[in-house]
Amino acid sequence: MSSLYYFAAWTDSGCLLGCDHQHATVISAVACIATCGGYVIAVEKGVLRELNYREEAEFKLAKYGDEKAKSALRTFVPNKVLDPLLN
Ligand SMILES: [Zn+2]
Repeated sequence: MSSLYYFAAWTDSGCLLGCDHQHATVISAVACIATCGGYVIAVEKGVLRELNYREEAEFKLAKYGDEKAKSALRTFVPNKVLDPLLN
């Protein structure tokens, strides 16, 4: 098991629900979100945590396909890392 993975989470009638996968990337977890209000939560070494700044940018990019998010991402992620994610 990887020490870092992501899962899709959303709320339903006040309950926090999540998918059962261990997504390797934020983007694949976003693809798994069941409702519009979904979110992605990171699990690092078995501990749930909020997305960090870089992961948050990936989340916005994957969820909204936002050009602004894309350009923001480019300021701190090298193109050689980013391009495979975007294509
Ligand atoms: Zn999933």
